[in-house]
Amino acid sequence: MTIIFQNQQSQPKQRIALISVHGDPAIEIGKEEAGGQNVYVRQVGKALAEQGWQVDMFTRKVSPEQEDVVEHSPGCRTVRLAAGPVDFIPRDEIFDHAPEFVQQFLAFQSREAATYPLVHTNYWISSWVGMELKKHQPLVQVHTYHSLGAVKYRSVSQIPMIAATRLAVEKSCLESAERIVATSPQEKEHMRSLVSTQGAIDVIPCGTDVERFGAISRQSARTKLGIDPNKKVILYVGRFDPRKGIETLVRAVGQSSLRSSADLQLIIGGGSRPGQSDGIERDRIEGIVAELGLTEITEFPGRLADDALAIYYAAADVCVVPSHYEPFGLVAIEAMASQTPVVASDVGGLQFTVVPEETGLLAPPKDAAAFAAAIDRILADPEWQQQLGQAARTRMVDKFSWRGVAAQLSDLYTRLLTEQPTAAPKELSA
Ligand code: UDP
Repeated sequence: MTIIFQNQQSQPKQRIALISVHGDPAIEIGKEEAGGQNVYVRQVGKALAEQGWQVDMFTRKVSPEQEDVVEHSPGCRTVRLAAGPVDFIPRDEIFDHAPEFVQQFLAFQSREAATYPLVHTNYWISSWVGMELKKHQPLVQVHTYHSLGAVKYRSVSQIPMIAATRLAVEKSCLESAERIVATSPQEKEHMRSLVSTQGAIDVIPCGTDVERFGAISRQSARTKLGIDPNKKVILYVGRFDPRKGIETLVRAVGQSSLRSSADLQLIIGGGSRPGQSDGIERDRIEGIVAELGLTEITEFPGRLADDALAIYYAAADVCVVPSHYEPFGLVAIEAMASQTPVVASDVGGLQFTVVPEETGLLAPPKDAAAFAAAIDRILADPEWQQQLGQAARTRMVDKFSWRGVAAQLSDLYTRLLTEQPTAAPKELSA
């Protein structure tokens, strides 16, 4: 077996592993525990394969019905490893099974008669897997945090048992990985001020599909969804998780000055399964919607599949991202790529992607009055709304396409592999 992969578009490159223990790149996005990280790994994996890398994306198998291997495109597949029970486990309990994940990864390499000279790990659990693998073979480790415990624990009321372990692993990874990829300058700053002053960090943002988002006009999107062209549509897209701040948005709409004069419509898109924790948050939000008398103007379309997403973003007048904390926030760039201005919390990656007064507005997190004022300003001025949307689209095409992001990652991998010849793959034969 050869470990070199070649496609038509570029020079042959090496086999690399993206490790995302809890964020399966092949599953439906938008449900509980499946969000930006899953999208990031899948899109980066596919775009890297287009650039000639042979990409295997490793994740934990969570149901016996799931296939062990999913082929996404030439040179890009998801590989599911059984580590711990083949069942859903809450994120904070997965770390107990990380040693088994390492063993399964090594066993997979033996079966394939190949090693991976570079692993790009995602989220702290996978960073530990990467650090362990380094004890077994020469390896370049690149790591993306997706969320930093040191930041997250500042905004939650209950600190979980796993916190001390997570913080220690995050520090150790920052200090030992060949390169950390921060997705915004704000995230890099948090790493430096809250985690460690040691370690090498590059800033490479997340991306979005600028061909899919932005391909449909507002008018045709509204026709497809049966939404009156005169309505003012306010959109949320994302998981039902208290950290996402959906409550702030609902309360903002409740106190909008346009409520009596304009025909407002609030759409809260995202999935949930009965009995799961996102179902609990959804029930809570529905309760607030009812309490504020907004039931008539609010719609919950549930999980939005890829094609529907592009239509909803295009149909909206404004997309609101009211998170308490957001390491990057893919929804904001998807909306902006769809030419829809964004009102977002003035936190984390949203401060990097949304340019206030140019592509949308920022408001302090949890401040419903400030969100109401920002939403009203945009909705009250259709001409300005359009200018913001156009500037947003231009910024996304220029700076945030997956292809551009993958090109930056590809350059980084090539540089690191050249600098670390010990991590070059061994000649292996099947
Ligand atoms: N998403 C989706 N369908 C939904 C809700 C969300 O496909 O119904 C996707 C959304 O388009 C985005 C991702 O889930 O790509 C959420 O990423 P983000 O970074 O905004 O938040 P996270 O879930 O990582 O906290």
